[in-house]
Amino acid sequence: MPYTSDDCLFCKIVAGTIPADVVHRDDHVVAFRDINPQAPTHILIIPTTHYENAAEVAGDDPSGLAALVVTARVLAQAEGIDRSGYRIVTNTGADAGQSVFHTHLHLLGGRRMAWPPG
Ligand code: C5P
Repeated sequence: MPYTSDDCLFCKIVAGTIPADVVHRDDHVVAFRDINPQAPTHILIIPTTHYENAAEVAGDDPSGLAALVVTARVLAQAEGIDRSGYRIVTNTGADAGQSVFHTHLHLLGGRRMAWPPG
């Protein structure tokens, strides 16, 4: 049974008690469309187990982190953005803009991106 946090929004999406537009689900990974999309494709990819940030996943479950990235690749192919290009972002901490403290990859694509990010 994966570790969950009672007051975590994304744990509730994993559990299905808060609705989300889920595009992928397996035992280890859930992916859903961001409620406030910043690009034509904006999907959040999260582990079913509660970890605060990507470094925590990497330290505790390296293959779990790899599964998130592999899911991003598969979804980029499904969205038709694997050839044009896409961005994977994971915000860590308040200064980086992290607002939900259940780690997630943002998969963004379908438009030209600027660099550096804001
Ligand atoms: O990186 P950060 O923690 O800020 O990203 C959280 C993301 O979760 C935001 O892009 C926000 O729009 C999204 N979100 C969502 N569904 C919710 C709550 C937040 O897609 N119910």
